[in-house]
Amino acid sequence: MPEGHTLHRLAAQVNRLFAGRHWRVSSPQGRFSAGAARLTERVPERAEAWGKQLFVHLGGDIWQVHLGLYGAFSFRGDESFTGAASLGAPRSRAEQYTPRYDDAGWIIPAPPAGSVRARVQVPNGWADLRGPAKCQVLNPMQYQAVIVRLGPDPLRQPEGATDQQLLEQFRGNLDRRRISIGAALMDQAVIAGVGNIYRAESLFVEQLDPDIPVQQLDAAQVASLWETLTGQLRTGVAEGIIRTLRPEDPLLGARGSDRNPRRHWVYQHQGTPCLRCGESIRMRELQGRRLYWCPGCQRR
Ligand SMILES: [Zn+2]
Repeated sequence: MPEGHTLHRLAAQVNRLFAGRHWRVSSPQGRFSAGAARLTERVPERAEAWGKQLFVHLGGDIWQVHLGLYGAFSFRGDESFTGAASLGAPRSRAEQYTPRYDDAGWIIPAPPAGSVRARVQVPNGWADLRGPAKCQVLNPMQYQAVIVRLGPDPLRQPEGATDQQLLEQFRGNLDRRRISIGAALMDQAVIAGVGNIYRAESLFVEQLDPDIPVQQLDAAQVASLWETLTGQLRTGVAEGIIRTLRPEDPLLGARGSDRNPRRHWVYQHQGTPCLRCGESIRMRELQGRRLYWCPGCQRR
């Protein structure tokens, strides 16, 4: 499932390519026809990401998209329509497309391939949304009801800074629960945007046992975990992939010079020796998702 960094990249790209421009919206597949009719021939003001959700604001209407496990946006257009070709679940490469234009100067999109839930178009390009877990139009009250249930998103902090209020919300959300930190990080009402990879990698960096009850964490541990997640997510936004292990990390020592450095400390490395302590990395299911950790050095 795309984690928060992908949604923030998506929001930035939607803002760059569509915000402030007259657009057309359709639902080639038909399942979003009513919503598309409400959004089309209007001007989207801005897109924002909150955790794993995208919201596009058009006056009092808010288009909500949750990509879920299979959702993805693909972007096509002429050479002035630039950015990532696809954001979300991996997609096969699109076939060749040579731009053509109608009499009004709008690009003529390629015929929709597969089940396109929503297509948004501006004169120089378009985006197709396939396979989302959620795609609907909200009014302001419905939007409020959705966001009030979302925990703080570390990527909604000012660039390079820690928003103390968001950190306090995270701490408060943990204090009110009687679950393990491994379960809490996957709860979007506790913290928004963290998925399976960031959970495993942040807990490893912080040397936290995933099974530790959240109420046993002290303020310094919570703050440090928030900082680590913030840094990891920001790097993900900047690079477009999740890379939590870098060849120059001091912990790696001489191993850091490996020609083909791996990207993760523990995620999908079960059965191999931990790079910090040598213990064998473990994997098990927790609430239907795979949890990876090192029993040797994640002991607090
Ligand atoms: Zn270890």
